[in-house]
Amino acid sequence: MATTKGTIGVTTDNIFPVIKKFLYSDHEIFLRELVSNAVDASQKLRTLSSFGEFKGELGDLKVAVTVDKEAGTLTVSDHGIGMTAEDIDKYINQIAFSGAEDFLAKYKDNTNAIIGHFGLGFYSAFMVADKVEIVSLSYKEGAEPVRWTCDGSPEFSMEAADKKERGTDIILHIAPENSEFLEQARIDTLLKKYCRFLPVPVVSGKEQEWKDGKMVDTDRDKVINSTEPLWMKKPVDLTDQDYMYFYHDLYPGQDDPLFWIHLNVDYPFNLTGVLFFPKIHNNFEITKNRIQLYCNQVFVTDSVEGVVPEFMMLLQGVIDSPDIPLNVSRSYLQSDTAVKKISGYITKKVASRLEELFKADRKDFESKWDDIRIFIEYGMLTDEKFRDAAMRFCLLKDTEGKYYTIEEYKTLIEAAQTDKDGNIVFLYATNPTDQYTYIQAANEKGYSVLIMDGQLDSHFVGLLEQKIEKSRFVRVDSDVIDNLIPKSDKKSADLSSDERDMLTTLFSSQIPTVDKAQFFVTFEAMGEGSAPIVITQNEYMRRMKEMAAMQPGMNFYGEMPDSFNLTVNVDQPAVKKIAASAKETLTGEISPLVSSIADANAKIEDVNKEIKDNKPTAEQEKQKQELMATVDKDRKRQTEIISSYAAAQPVIRQLIDLALLGNGLLKGADLSAFINRSVKLL
Ligand code: ADP
Repeated sequence: MATTKGTIGVTTDNIFPVIKKFLYSDHEIFLRELVSNAVDASQKLRTLSSFGEFKGELGDLKVAVTVDKEAGTLTVSDHGIGMTAEDIDKYINQIAFSGAEDFLAKYKDNTNAIIGHFGLGFYSAFMVADKVEIVSLSYKEGAEPVRWTCDGSPEFSMEAADKKERGTDIILHIAPENSEFLEQARIDTLLKKYCRFLPVPVVSGKEQEWKDGKMVDTDRDKVINSTEPLWMKKPVDLTDQDYMYFYHDLYPGQDDPLFWIHLNVDYPFNLTGVLFFPKIHNNFEITKNRIQLYCNQVFVTDSVEGVVPEFMMLLQGVIDSPDIPLNVSRSYLQSDTAVKKISGYITKKVASRLEELFKADRKDFESKWDDIRIFIEYGMLTDEKFRDAAMRFCLLKDTEGKYYTIEEYKTLIEAAQTDKDGNIVFLYATNPTDQYTYIQAANEKGYSVLIMDGQLDSHFVGLLEQKIEKSRFVRVDSDVIDNLIPKSDKKSADLSSDERDMLTTLFSSQIPTVDKAQFFVTFEAMGEGSAPIVITQNEYMRRMKEMAAMQPGMNFYGEMPDSFNLTVNVDQPAVKKIAASAKETLTGEISPLVSSIADANAKIEDVNKEIKDNKPTAEQEKQKQELMATVDKDRKRQTEIISSYAAAQPVIRQLIDLALLGNGLLKGADLSAFINRSVKLL
């Protein structure tokens, strides 16, 4: 054939500088493009052969990637269908490029989109080569071998070639600045990344062996890929060992997975894959070993944010679908409707598989629950569809280590733990050791306590509250036992306001300063046998702080001190004794102050009545000021008297310290003072 020259059919002046410049970041994908073209060509021939349209010998359909460092070339060869001069003209020279300029302007920062959108797969070779040759012999009868050459300008030449074997060689003359692609090791890495599961054998370099004290090449070709990856096989043909082996091959150095889900759909789209539930030890692993997306066994990406449902970012494994567009950027993937459907489907499938596992072997499911709950809780928090399905198999664990479904647990506690307003109160502990005494108290009342010690539980509790009708979740130490689940027959502390005032000062004056904590003294009649003082932390305030800690920009709550209730049990004998002797000792001294305060307050009331809606006169103002000063002075005096009395009663401080100690709030000097005082009191 005569040599032809021509201009590649793109409307923009020169596509190559664009390819080179803008596609810079993803340089390495050229190899994926060329090898997948070679694999496609091989598979097309197989298909033609199976339809009887190709009658010759298929032969060994492997794809070879060869580095020739001296010649400065990298060659991808196949024995596929090959191309005639007409084919090259049609498929390579005429790049359909409508509105190219607009598109390039728009996507110049989005390299993958350019390639994918316009089927520039082959041309990505120019990202690394300054000259590319195609030498090809078509499978068609009587076809002539042809050589196409292009040096990166829009001009190409085409001429007769000398090639005996059917198939195509793509020869890249690697540009000097890209010499890394002439290193076998670099090529091996890339092939392992993109091509390890391609359906046609890919060979590159030679197998090595140990000889005379060093590794040397053998004459056996090194096969890069496994052509029948596990996910393409039928689950019935696979053993647990097969899955384990595959898993460890994908993610070396990990523990065995907890279990896996084999996906296999052909309607409404094609999708295969295997998802593994890993045993998670730390967050670093999660970001490192992620789900890999494949399109017909070609690796696309492991940046799967937005492609798989968010909670599945915690899973591992492989998803393969011809409907996942190859060559496109992640933002493109995320907005792709096929991809969205896939994501929704996977969610449904994972949920129904989990339910199956739960139903088939509940014991086994329970034994894995502590490890898998993070996936399930995360899924329920972030994905509505998953949440609804998971309500059926999500488990709750109580402090005795028993597991219940939400429905089972509700039934279990309904009778004993419904409060006077008809709400079912779910009690939970976040730390069974620290909250031991509270759990104990709840159990003694016949209440059950859940363990909610997971990373996501402060959010998860909120979700359950929303989803379970008429329910309330209350941490077991958030109030004294009778207030946790208020019943109508509750006994309250029977104190006059004077008594209450005195007792409040008596106890609050003795609370030590605790870093980042503030205390409010309250009184309850909790029965003789209960603790004298109980320290609790309000559920609502604590949750606000916990939420704030997880959300940036909400530091305001985080900075606030923790506020605790210090509830004094007025039924408890020691407390009773303290109250009685304080009353006895202090009444004489305090009574005149109390009456003086009452008197002054009454007079202030009178003046206010006189003033009514009028503007107060100067005289009235002065009168009020003086009376208020009296109240203030008397109050201060009263506080002084009670405080100094309290300070001389080590038992008060002792009771407070005991309660603080039980909550891990007594530290440093206060702790050692407590110990010394204990010895003395003994
Ligand atoms: P795409 O693969 O997306 O169609 P490419 O630019 O990579 O775009 O390839 C364009 C066309 O060139 C292919 O569709 C195919 O027909 C042909 N082609 C490329 N490489 C080969 C090859 N190794 N063997 C046979 N045909 C090929």
